[in-house]
Amino acid sequence: MMLVGTELGIWSLVAAAVLGPIVAVLFAIRERHRLVGRLGNLEDVLRRLRTADPTTGFDEREENSLALSRERLVLTNLLDRFPEVTQKFVNVETLEALGACVLSAFERVLDCEYGVAFVREGEDLRLLAQSGLPEHEAYSGMTLPLGHGRVGYSAAKCLILRPGDFATLDEAHHQQVENTRKFERDFDFYVPMVHRGRSIGCIAVGGMKKIVQKAHSVSMALANLGALVTVNIQRAAEIRALSETDPLTRLSNRRHAYAQLEQRLRHRRTSPFAIFLFDIDHFKKTNDEHGHAVGDAVLVHVANQAREFVRKEDGEFACRFGGEEFLCVINSEDLPSLTARVEAFREHLASRAWDAGDGKAPIMVTVSGGVAFCPAEEEEADSLIRLADDRLYTAKESGRNRLCLESQREPQR
Ligand code: GH3
Ligand code: MG
Ligand code: MG
Repeated sequence: MMLVGTELGIWSLVAAAVLGPIVAVLFAIRERHRLVGRLGNLEDVLRRLRTADPTTGFDEREENSLALSRERLVLTNLLDRFPEVTQKFVNVETLEALGACVLSAFERVLDCEYGVAFVREGEDLRLLAQSGLPEHEAYSGMTLPLGHGRVGYSAAKCLILRPGDFATLDEAHHQQVENTRKFERDFDFYVPMVHRGRSIGCIAVGGMKKIVQKAHSVSMALANLGALVTVNIQRAAEIRALSETDPLTRLSNRRHAYAQLEQRLRHRRTSPFAIFLFDIDHFKKTNDEHGHAVGDAVLVHVANQAREFVRKEDGEFACRFGGEEFLCVINSEDLPSLTARVEAFREHLASRAWDAGDGKAPIMVTVSGGVAFCPAEEEEADSLIRLADDRLYTAKESGRNRLCLESQREPQR
């Protein structure tokens, strides 16, 4: 028995001596994978982006493939060395936040003191963020024409430029760059944000405290990371707008109306409001007599009137609720003034026939509508809309081209 016990002890020691380092190595590998895994997705997206289009504005004298593999390497190193910087990029949701994020990344990685970040909007560049500049140098709201000024030139040409580079530009380009200079100071680097060969914006940074190795390629990697996130934010905004907008009338659609309504319902006690639901009268007849295209044009005409009717700046909104049915949320004043307001809308529409330009007689466009009050009558979206719809039905039943604001009263005309 003693012998068996001793043997077990020896084998345990041997096992610990052999397995210990192996387990330690396995742990180290796991840690490394965890880090890479966290950044993996972003890196993957970037790699695909790079391989999809080699036109990134990288030094044109170099061979593209060489430039690409170098940039990929720079980016990978960057992601590895500054995980907290890249993590910030992943989390930003607005362009303004992205601008600040890019600038703080430049500060951290290139050790620069100040900077400005611009995003392209059509043929202009709009300032997104500035950092490290004194208050009197606030450029908030600034726009620059693409192609003009140093920032604009760098963005338009997709070229990273340093102040010395501008001196070598030929006469015509030199004029273009220097004429519209608007900043009180020089920057050390003008870095375009490029996505798939297209200029997305520009970062200008200055006050670099030390020479950073590979500053050129690191700047570009950072700016292009910024470009990728910019494009993603812009696409997300486009998709959101599409999902909230009726394509024909450009008004909010029903889905967005409910979301906005929920928002208003949360503040119903302090900001009471009314639902004004209206429907075009005999619209089927318009379609039948003038065709579907004219019917569409009538819908756009009524939608434009509704858009003008609501006071957007006061939180009111209009939406296309269904086929030829519209819903407005308006602030609830006292009953007489609200009645006067919606009546003026109805009358204005009915006051003149609408010429479709199709050679036929102008069309009388009238609406019937119902109004329900929150919180005075109902406090939930569905019940409010149902009440307004009941009154709309009453208005139709009573002869159309009229509104019903109260359950008991006869509809107004
Ligand atoms: P009422 O006064 O009772 O409201 O009568 P109406 O003819 O307006 O109502 P009805 O419900 O009978 O017809 C509505 C028509 O609206 C039928 C439908 O083809 C048309 N419509 C719905 N959406 C559109 C659209 O996007 N474009 C066009 N041109 N017509 C549409
Ligand atoms: Mg109708
Ligand atoms: Mg209808």
